[in-house]
Amino acid sequence: MTYDRLVCANCAAPVSQGRCPVCRANRERLQQQEGPFGGLNPLALIVLMVVLVAALALLAQQTA
Ligand SMILES: [Zn+2]
Repeated sequence: MTYDRLVCANCAAPVSQGRCPVCRANRERLQQQEGPFGGLNPLALIVLMVVLVAALALLAQQTA
């Protein structure tokens, strides 16, 4: 996501293109930093919130 706009200091090409070893190393490092949450973070957060609210609603119904 964020590394799309990064320009490599070694080959002056976008890091996302991976033209040189420095690019590829940076790309891998950045992708690992983003981790499994990198691509789906907003959607995952929304889903998590919906699940939490639903669980709370169910709990409230059962206890009330
Ligand atoms: Zn490069």
